[in-house]
Amino acid sequence: MPFYDLKCPKCGNEFNIMAKMSDRENNLINCPHCGSNQLDTVFKSVNIIQSKKSKDECPNRHVCGGCCNH
Ligand SMILES: [Zn+2]
Repeated sequence: MPFYDLKCPKCGNEFNIMAKMSDRENNLINCPHCGSNQLDTVFKSVNIIQSKKSKDECPNRHVCGGCCNH
């Protein structure tokens, strides 16, 4: 089962939960704080920032264009 990073717009609670995709699609996941099932998916930007940083720091980027991620 996949993990979901979810945020409850009702009470502002953010939480990580493992649930079936069918549960997510059918709004069967409830906020553990207030019980609401109207939840937003949180898209973490951490991975995007890290990959961009390593690209800038690539010592061979004049050769490889930063694609080697070293
Ligand atoms: Zn809530």
